[in-house]
Amino acid sequence: MGALRGVGIGAGVAQGPVIRMAEPLPAPENVKSVLGAEAERARIRDAIAAVAAELTARAESAGGAAQEVLEAQAMIAEDPTLQDEVDARIDDGATAEWAVHDAFAGFKATLEAVGGYLGERAADLDDIAQRVLARLRGVAAPGVPDPGHPFVLVARDLAPADTALLKLDQVLALITSDGGPTSHTAILAREKGIVAVVGVVQATGLSDGETVIVDAAAGAVTTMPSPDELARATERASARQSAEALPATPGALADGTPIALLANLGKPADAADAVSRGAEGVGLFRTEFLFLSAAQAPTVAQQRESYRELLAAFEGKKVVVRLLDAGADKPLAFLNDAHEENPALGLRGLRALRASEDILREQLTALAEADAETSADLWVMAPMVTTVEETAYFTTLAREYGLKTAGVMVEVPASALLADRVLAHADFASIGTNDLTQYTMAADRMLGSVAGFQDPWHPAVLRLVGEVGAAGARAGKPVGICGEAAADPLLAVVLVGLGATSLSMAPAALSDVRLALSERTLEEARRLAEIALTADDAAGARAAVAAALV
Ligand code: PEP
Ligand code: MG
Repeated sequence: MGALRGVGIGAGVAQGPVIRMAEPLPAPENVKSVLGAEAERARIRDAIAAVAAELTARAESAGGAAQEVLEAQAMIAEDPTLQDEVDARIDDGATAEWAVHDAFAGFKATLEAVGGYLGERAADLDDIAQRVLARLRGVAAPGVPDPGHPFVLVARDLAPADTALLKLDQVLALITSDGGPTSHTAILAREKGIVAVVGVVQATGLSDGETVIVDAAAGAVTTMPSPDELARATERASARQSAEALPATPGALADGTPIALLANLGKPADAADAVSRGAEGVGLFRTEFLFLSAAQAPTVAQQRESYRELLAAFEGKKVVVRLLDAGADKPLAFLNDAHEENPALGLRGLRALRASEDILREQLTALAEADAETSADLWVMAPMVTTVEETAYFTTLAREYGLKTAGVMVEVPASALLADRVLAHADFASIGTNDLTQYTMAADRMLGSVAGFQDPWHPAVLRLVGEVGAAGARAGKPVGICGEAAADPLLAVVLVGLGATSLSMAPAALSDVRLALSERTLEEARRLAEIALTADDAAGARAAVAAALV
């Protein structure tokens, strides 16, 4: 037995036989065309049109986030800049195969150099190039295997076109050797509730047919599991299934202490799923997700419409909207135009908004107008707030626009350490554990090589959470958690023990967290938090808390 480490998506656990995804088609050789430029161009045109049509058709049948991803891929396939690059190679005498291979590789390198969100889209280009190559060669495109029985799919990284069409009754779990927590595989696995561990470097060593346990909660893949380990995994999987079948009651601890369970959303269309899973409101609406590919700032009218749609889905419920969080992993062309060596430490979040105050004011205007037209309880918050002065600046400005509940995200150790003074100005704090971990541990959250440091269980991160929780209790103000940490059922209990009054997460995680909270009292949660705080590191904290439960 052994455990391979990666980044778990969600809290599920599954077991089954491994089936590896077919390796990509071999690269073509750079030989001169014998058919001539005219014929090569016609072959490419037909192949690209066929691939774009296939992706569009898949998009229509997939729906949801997958639809957008696939539609974007279909557009990339027919991108005129890319087409020009391909044509230039044909003019130089290349074959259609080589022109596609080389031009797509060049475009991919450009995206990777940009990094962040665009960098993660680079894998999409490989997939499109492979599909076009397969068409040109008249062979089947590499894709999800279909062995005729349920299996654990192991791949380098899944292309959106594959993930969208996974037969959920056949795929027990996903393991990828590449790809981080923000790759398409991760986004789509989260949305579809597929048990997944991504970035498992050693997954390349797994063989077809061997049985593994995929434990997303632990971010681990167990090879050669013992009968005991298999039995425990089965038990956990069925406890999880029963939890999903339970009525979606409001979040509460075993002693009745209410802990609101809220949803993290990126677009209004996801509201219905969150409501059906019992979300008591929205704890984080990431407005920048609406405008990631926009070249210009969105208009007030455009924004108002999106916010109105969101608020209308949560009548009478709390909806926390975050102002545009531009920069680093989520660059927005209209807010981040300067080149920065370290964008995570640069003009991002509230800093970027303040540098373009007209955009900030327009967003507040759109939010106030949408608020006036709907009856949800709208709270607004600023991202990446570092100082007390920034807190006062944002909350004063938001109230100027009639937005009555204004708070800040605590994602930087500085604002966690001065939480008392931050909360003297803000109506509430929401802790973004993804960035708080990144900045506490000095580990870029986009970088696989330092992923081991990116663990919110680290006692240093937990101590900062505790500072904010205690400050919230003293001030009588709410302290929410909206980073991925809130979706880890065991850690969620610890966070409540540290003073969190609400938890916000991907809707698919709600039932697991609801169950975990219902099994512990506030006193127990506080005791578990104390245990975690005394550990030396993240693994020690996780293990000590788990041991205290048995
Ligand atoms: C966070 O940093 O924890 C957070 C919730 O914000 P985002 O992941 O969007 O940066
Ligand atoms: Mg953040």
